[in-house]
Amino acid sequence: MTTPRITWGLIGASDIAETRMIPAMRRLGHNVAGLASGDADHAARFAARNEIPNGTGEFGIEELLDDRGIDAVYISSTNARHLEQASAAAAAGKHVLCEKPVAVDLQSARRMTAACAAHGVVLGVNHHLPAAGTHRAVRELVRDGAIGRVLAVNVQHTSLLPERLRGWRLGDEDGAGVVMDLTCHDASVVNPLLGTRALRASAIVVRQHDWGPGRAEDAAVSALEYEGGVLVRLHDAFTTPNAPTRLEVYGDAGSIVADGVMTPEPEGTIMLRDARGEREVDVTDRRHTYDITLHHFASAAAGEGSPVVDGRDAADALAVALAVLDSARSERTVPVDFSPIRLLETN
Ligand code: NDP
Repeated sequence: MTTPRITWGLIGASDIAETRMIPAMRRLGHNVAGLASGDADHAARFAARNEIPNGTGEFGIEELLDDRGIDAVYISSTNARHLEQASAAAAAGKHVLCEKPVAVDLQSARRMTAACAAHGVVLGVNHHLPAAGTHRAVRELVRDGAIGRVLAVNVQHTSLLPERLRGWRLGDEDGAGVVMDLTCHDASVVNPLLGTRALRASAIVVRQHDWGPGRAEDAAVSALEYEGGVLVRLHDAFTTPNAPTRLEVYGDAGSIVADGVMTPEPEGTIMLRDARGEREVDVTDRRHTYDITLHHFASAAAGEGSPVVDGRDAADALAVALAVLDSARSERTVPVDFSPIRLLETN
């Protein structure tokens, strides 16, 4: 399988760019040609460390977007900046791969999708989990009726937040907290698995660990109803070391338990249990989740297929996360705003 070659400009000198995405881009033979960042000293060190050429010594977004050699930008700044940066990139004719959550509110998510559509560029969002071979295998089992009618889904997405990531995620800015960080990932898995709309959410969020300043929640338990009376339970936490991750799907004819799959690494096992007993399901694609995401994005940019998660999918994932936060803060069960994005694009 060959991946069309892309020349990237990075917007955001972030940890994920350095530890995950630049290596993945290079594994696929892509070219990382430029960097824009708000902090020139940090950017200069980042560019040198990661061997990103920077002929002008400027790290402004305008310089990056003016570079005609750049096909696409990868935006991995903090969440509140995604909309403005993606809109500028789209206006400059660059395809956009944006980090999740796509934005901090639904209106911004929809504006970003509309901007990319208006300028004829691809918008992909880096929810890597739906791309995983394990998650695709679980979706296929469900779609093929292996467990009958789906009744319930449980997601355990818990770990200890690595020390190097204990910054803005734990602070007070828009987009901080475990719900915007992990619950939106869960929704990016559950939404295409069920293929139906989330209707309502009821949630509790807490701050379990003494991280110092900041009030963002570090653990959340959410209950959701999807169409057809399907019940979904999500547990997300930054606070639990040595915890396994898990996706469970229960149907009226069987169940699927996928252990260790809520991770970007191409790991995890899938057990299927039905009237015939329990057996392990073969996972044939063990490519890295980011490689798969980049492959589909690059193909879409070359006019073939679409990104694994596009702006509309990402807005639906965000809608679930925002409903969870709304429920937790208001201490009520709230509706999920799953309105079809296409209707809003003409606004
Ligand atoms: P970081 O905290 O590493 O970086 C975010 C921004 O902070 C950078 O873009 C940079 O700003 C600034 N920054 C970081 N380090 C420094 C420094 N030493 N000095 C000055 N400025 C600094 O964020 P993450 O990599 O953890 O997350 C970035 C985005 O990626 C978020 O949207 C997050 O949700 C997403 N993410 C997604 C993951 C996934 O699973 N798909 C996993 C991890 C993160 P500037 O933009 O100005 O360069």
